[in-house]
Amino acid sequence: MKAAFIDRDGTILSNEDHLRREDDYSPTFNVFKGIRMLKNLGFLPVIITNQSGVARGYYGEDFVELIKNKMGRDLACEGVDTFAHYYCPHHPTVGLFPYKMQCTCRKPEAGMVYKAAKEFDINLQESIVIGDSTTDYGLAKNAEINFYLVATGTGKKFVREIEEEKNPLYCGYFDNLFTVAESIAASKK
Ligand SMILES: [Mg+2]
Ligand SMILES: [Zn+2]
Repeated sequence: MKAAFIDRDGTILSNEDHLRREDDYSPTFNVFKGIRMLKNLGFLPVIITNQSGVARGYYGEDFVELIKNKMGRDLACEGVDTFAHYYCPHHPTVGLFPYKMQCTCRKPEAGMVYKAAKEFDINLQESIVIGDSTTDYGLAKNAEINFYLVATGTGKKFVREIEEEKNPLYCGYFDNLFTVAESIAASKK
């Protein structure tokens, strides 16, 4: 099994910073269609998201679950019934017990990727990471997975810095997740 590890904020959803209200749920262009294309290419969609808003007291874990279920309904509308979802509610220096802690799941640490890999028997070499920040890029490097940067969210701010590294894991800069999927689909034809 190969996986597409997909960031949430700025990649699936348009918000660059913490999503605090359900009303601000705003998917990026054609994102669920893009995830369906990735699924059809054999990638298990695995959403991997830092949610330190929980540690900071902005919202509870129930709100993270609510947004997960919302994405799940949108994915189901596109025919994607199977996806995985992992989040890190922690912060190393801010917040309250039990969330204020140095954990191994907060990206760029690869704890969530390794957990998913174990649970779904994922081959990381065939997998990809899609994200809008150096945090996602760092995750990709830590787990040695190919990385696709999107221009949605904070992508524009980080593209130069990431491209200057000339890391072979970096696969390019795309308008959004949908165009990442189109590009991968085209390369398989
Ligand atoms: Mg992001
Ligand atoms: Zn964590």
